[in-house]
Amino acid sequence: MTTITQMKCACQTCLCVVSIEEAVKNDDKYYCSEACAEGHKTLKGCAHNGCGC
Ligand SMILES: [Zn+2]
Ligand SMILES: [Zn+2]
Repeated sequence: MTTITQMKCACQTCLCVVSIEEAVKNDDKYYCSEACAEGHKTLKGCAHNGCGC
């Protein structure tokens, strides 16, 4: 049995891989940051290098 501990951020344009324990969870999806979790309505980017979101 494999336990998944890391997932790609659910933000489409984001390239981050986040560990589920540390991810920001929203609507059963995992995001690397608050900005991604809120769909970039008020916050831009995720402050991670190389992400285009
Ligand atoms: Zn990111
Ligand atoms: Zn994002």
